[in-house]
Amino acid sequence: MKKIVKKTATYRCDKCRTTYETKKAAQKCERASVEKRAYRKGALVRTCAKRVSKCPCGRDYYCVGSVVSVLGPYPYDHEWLLKDYGIKPGPGHLYLYEIASDICPGCRKLRLVQYPAAVLQPVPSR
Ligand SMILES: [Zn+2]
Ligand SMILES: [Zn+2]
Repeated sequence: MKKIVKKTATYRCDKCRTTYETKKAAQKCERASVEKRAYRKGALVRTCAKRVSKCPCGRDYYCVGSVVSVLGPYPYDHEWLLKDYGIKPGPGHLYLYEIASDICPGCRKLRLVQYPAAVLQPVPSR
C-alpha cells in the first residue's frame, strides 16, 4: 500500500491568519473590517452584569481585572464566539482581551480569562 499525501492549497487572511480552503472565503475575510481596540493593556475592566465565569473549582464569579494582552484579531463568525460568548456572527474581525487578577472567591486562585469587548465594560478609576 502506498500512502498518498494530497496537497491542497489553502488561503490565509492577512488580518487574522485564518486559513480557508477557497480564495473567495479568504478574500471575504480579509475585506472585512477589524474592530477598533476598545481597551488598552492595563485598562481596568469587568464583565457586564450577569456574565459569570466558571472556575474549575465549580464556582461562578464575576470577572474584574486589568487587561494584560490583546489577542487577535479573530474572525467575527468564529463558532466559539457564538458558543462561549453568545456573540452573533457578523462581518469583520474582533479582539479578545485577556484579563488578569481574576480571583475566584471559591478557591482564591488567580485566573486569566479572555473576553471580547462586547461583554466588557470599563471600571472607572478613582
Ligand atoms: Zn480574517
Ligand atoms: Zn475557583
